[in-house]
This record gives sequence, structure tokens and C-alpha cells, in this order.
Amino acid sequence: MKKQFLVIGLGRFGSSITKTLIQNGHEVLAVDKNEQNVQDMASIATHALQADCTDEGVLRELGVSNFTHGIVAIGDDLQASILTTVLLKELNVPKVTAKARNEMHGKVLSKVGADHVVYPERDMGIRLGNQLSSDTLIDYIELSPDYNLAEILAPPAMNGKSLKELHIRAKYGCTIMAIKKGHHINVSPKADDAIHTGDILLIIGSNEDIRQLENDYE
Ligand code: ADP
Repeated sequence: MKKQFLVIGLGRFGSSITKTLIQNGHEVLAVDKNEQNVQDMASIATHALQADCTDEGVLRELGVSNFTHGIVAIGDDLQASILTTVLLKELNVPKVTAKARNEMHGKVLSKVGADHVVYPERDMGIRLGNQLSSDTLIDYIELSPDYNLAEILAPPAMNGKSLKELHIRAKYGCTIMAIKKGHHINVSPKADDAIHTGDILLIIGSNEDIRQLENDYE
């Protein structure tokens, strides 16, 4: 379903969100107080306009309450980021996502009503740190602070072995949910299905168990 997004702050983060939302078929009103940033988004967003979003009158004129989701992507100017978040909530934007520079900024954004606070630099640092620490981890989705769905390159020590022989669930408490072989993906692997070098395994489990499995097969 098509959604209406309001993206405020068109730096690297806000413009990248705008592009992705548009690619996914949604409508985006992209706003920034800097004219150049607005021009850069003019041919991409549904509408792009220059405005200072810390001004309540401006936000009312934009009809912000008609949007299902507001994204406050103002990074460096803490005061503007906090004030804009407060105003969007006061003007009844149902869902507000705000970008935080650090934990303290994030705490304030939550306190003033942000429904969702994101920490792009911190989270990307953690993600990259985890990927670089491992020879096999390709990507992962955090299901909770303790559980992940991880995409792992099958280690050579698993080559030719079936799921039954590997005993992954019994040994590590993790489940191999799918095995990708090139373009083919086996989404309900059977006990006799074998793993080969170059396969990609989708594993669900606790962070600790997945790490243990990776270490044992290193
Ligand atoms: P990034 O790290 O994503 O590049 P920046 O902090 O550099 O983030 O960019 C934030 C953007 O938010 C800038 O383009 C800036 O002009 C814009 N911005 C800052 N304050 C306001 C405001 N009050 N109203 C609208 N846009 C704002």
C-alpha cells in the first residue's frame, strides 16, 4: 500500500531514505532549510521544498498531520532535531522516526515523543564490526538484542555434510532455516540435505550460539 512520508533534513541520511521510499513506490514530501539540498531531491521526491521545520506555522501549512509517517533526519543541530520531533507529535503525526547522534540525544528524542529512534552511525559501526570480525558472517538481522537471523558462508569444514550429520540444533541450539546455492534457495531443508562450500546458510539463534558455531568451524 502506498504510504505518505514526510522526510525532514536532506543530508546523506535523509536523502538516502527519500530515494529508497520512492523506489518502493511511496510518496515523499522532502523538506530541508538548505536550498541546495532541496534542489538535489527535487527530481527524486514526490515534492521537495525549502522550509525551517522548527517553525510550527510552517509545519501546519505543510499539513503534516496528513502524513502517516514523519522522519526527522536532522543530525548536527540537536535543538532543531528535538524541536521538530516535538512539533510533529503535537501536530498528530501518527508515527515519528528520529535520527539520534548519540545515546543522550536518543533519550531526549524518545522522551519528547519519537516513536522510533535510530542511531545510524552507531548501528552501522556495530554491523561492520561484526562482519569484519568474522570470516563467514555475510549479514544479519537483529531479531532482539540477543537473537539474530544470520547469513553465513558455509565453512569448508561443513563441505559434503548433511544437516543430520552436523547436529547444529543439538550442539548449538541454532536452526538452519534455509540454504542458498547460487540462485536457488532451499527454504525447508531436510535432515539429509547436504551443505557444500560456497553455500550460504540462513541461521536463526542466539548471538552467542551463532558465534560459537562460527568459531568451532573456523
Ligand atoms: P547527515 O549526517 O545525514 O548528512 P546532516 O546533519 O548533515 O545529516 O544533515 C541534516 C540536514 O538537516 C541538513 O541538510 C540541514 O540543512 C537540515 N536541517 C537542519 N535543521 C533544519 C531545520 N530546522 N529544518 C529543516 N531542515 C533542517
